[in-house]
Amino acid sequence: MPNYAMAFLQEPEPQRGIRLPVLPGIGRIVARNPGIMTYHGTNTYLIDEADGLTIIDPGPPDPQHVADILTAAGDTKITRIVLTHSHFDHMGAAESLKAATGAPVYAFHISAIPGYTADIPLHDDTEFAGLTALHTPGHASDHLCFQYSASDGSKILFSGDHVMSWSSSIVSPPEGDMLAYYRSLRRVMSRNDAFYLPGHGPKLPEPQNLAAELLAHRQKRENAILAALQIQDWSIAALAHELYAKSDPSLKVAATRNVLAHILKLKAENKVTELAPDTQLHPDIASLPDHSPGPLPPGVTMATVSQSRSDTLRRFALARTV
Ligand SMILES: [Zn+2]
Repeated sequence: MPNYAMAFLQEPEPQRGIRLPVLPGIGRIVARNPGIMTYHGTNTYLIDEADGLTIIDPGPPDPQHVADILTAAGDTKITRIVLTHSHFDHMGAAESLKAATGAPVYAFHISAIPGYTADIPLHDDTEFAGLTALHTPGHASDHLCFQYSASDGSKILFSGDHVMSWSSSIVSPPEGDMLAYYRSLRRVMSRNDAFYLPGHGPKLPEPQNLAAELLAHRQKRENAILAALQIQDWSIAALAHELYAKSDPSLKVAATRNVLAHILKLKAENKVTELAPDTQLHPDIASLPDHSPGPLPPGVTMATVSQSRSDTLRRFALARTV
């Protein structure tokens, strides 16, 4: 969700299908999945290591993208496939790239995908191939950032979808967790990385500034929610309409997910209580189709769609201390 009030970076549409230089020893291939949530597409990073190439986020399940990665690798062996998190636009190509190369998949030891186990399960602070994993839940429960030193010595962080240069992150419950997201933002703000290399969008210099802005923006949103609750009780859909007033239907859905995430954080902090839900869908939501025409995006099930509709009926009030 671009928010041009913040210091987000834009870039011209990058060239497709080839390795673009990022920093010494690091390249990226931008996947062919541009969109309202993915910007020009998912960044697949290639890191030159002594024993071959490390791939960070193989990208969406697009055979052409996998072919592009293999072409870019050329005669160099792909040694490992590393996932920042288990969303489809990042890990969808993992199995086919693994089948083509024999490289093992590295990911957080507790996957957000039930039943999925990585070949090499990672924990917070696990070190391998010059990378150090940092568990940074919020956008996804299994989200990892990776600390790395580029060959010119610059200290960088592969920041996945936790902090992106082009837009704020979606935090959609139950997997997305706003309380964890705040904590993970503070964690990366306390570091002194020179650049973030995000899952979408260009390289981000002076990244602590944007991370601090993102946190301040969330705090402002949280205060607006608390102020609205001082006046009356709200359903999620009505409050999202009041605070965001988005006209684009997909942004409307994203806004309700963000409001729910904030409210559940406040509930976890005992500042808000949940009431009986509304029985009627808010007009904003009732007017939306059950899902956009055509097949559901990969990784989205009808259960997710109906869950997110029923979440819009959930009603909350300020907690009163007795
Ligand atoms: Zn993503």
